[in-house]
Amino acid sequence: MQELITTWTMAIASLIATLLLLLAIYTWPRGERRRCPGHRGWRTLWNPSRWIRRSECWQDLTGVPIASTGDVRCPECGRSTPIERVLRDGRRIRLGVIGAVLGVIAIGSQIGVAAHSGRPLRSIPTLALVMLSNTAIGEHRTVVRKEIEQRVGDGAIAGFNARRLADVLVFDLRADGRKWNANEAADALGRLWPDSKDALDRELVEGDVQSRKIVAVILRSRDQTGSMELFIASVDDLRDDGDASAGWLLQGNARDAGEYLIDHYWEAPELIRAVLDSDDAQQRRIAMVICGFAGDATVVERVIPVLIDELRDNDIWGDARLAAPAVFKFGPPAIEALRPYVDDPDRQLRETVRSIIERLEHPDRAWDECENRLPRITSTTHDPLVLDFWTAAGGR
Ligand SMILES: [Zn+2]
Repeated sequence: MQELITTWTMAIASLIATLLLLLAIYTWPRGERRRCPGHRGWRTLWNPSRWIRRSECWQDLTGVPIASTGDVRCPECGRSTPIERVLRDGRRIRLGVIGAVLGVIAIGSQIGVAAHSGRPLRSIPTLALVMLSNTAIGEHRTVVRKEIEQRVGDGAIAGFNARRLADVLVFDLRADGRKWNANEAADALGRLWPDSKDALDRELVEGDVQSRKIVAVILRSRDQTGSMELFIASVDDLRDDGDASAGWLLQGNARDAGEYLIDHYWEAPELIRAVLDSDDAQQRRIAMVICGFAGDATVVERVIPVLIDELRDNDIWGDARLAAPAVFKFGPPAIEALRPYVDDPDRQLRETVRSIIERLEHPDRAWDECENRLPRITSTTHDPLVLDFWTAAGGR
């Protein structure tokens, strides 16, 4: 708060100083020489009114006779002044001096604050910096942008300023060949939440491939309400993009999208069902797993025969760990689809299927009370059937 007051005081002081100096130039005294300057000497410095006023007398000397010595004697204060020292008519106030003094104070304290904090722009108001942020002098890696990032980090930007800033930052999320600017913008946009919501929602629709993916990551981590646009973007994120151009931002975005889609599954189940036949293997597989975790019984016949293959004893480490809880979470409707595999030649598949069926038929039995024990398909837990999607999909 105190910082805010200092900032604004300095900004207003600079503004007034500038205005006064401009006004001083504009109203420069250029009239006739006819005003009495009054007493002039260093003693007058003790009188504060002389700091502001150009003369303590200001008597109009028009028509007063000039003596042979060239002096004019003021009928008001009685002083004699050489005619060339009589003041020109015009403003009475020393605008230029006041403006200059104010300017020196503002600039001086500015330099003081900058030197003290190591942040040269510390005393510039946020609004001014935000306005500069979409110009060349405020883009990524400039002093202006660094100061903005510092303030975002301090949580000092909110409301109007935050919304304007978010409008600018979303453009940095797009693929532009510059390194790291997307990461820093994403970080700032996350911190500006919820003020950044409108800008992110817009970018989710209008952005390029990279920015839409990053925006989806940010929105999924912040927005608990869910929107159709985000749902569609998340289904798309299930694809194996294999493109790591945006670095860490997109790592694990399929897992992240999967969890979001499970949470919001019943808002648009047809969108997930539509990608069960996707041309992208990863999207197809995660969509099936999502249907399982969401308990969508309408697709049991389509999904279980595929997920079953992942329960076989193969060399793909960890795939059973995700497939087993997905099959289990379909609930009792899965039992009939699982029956054909209870005598499968593959031991891991056979035992997993028997165990799942027993657990579904006897929900009261814990994992260690069952006749059919689940084979060890993961080393992290004895009971992978109750893992949630996020955990089951991790550690691969
Ligand atoms: Zn006078």
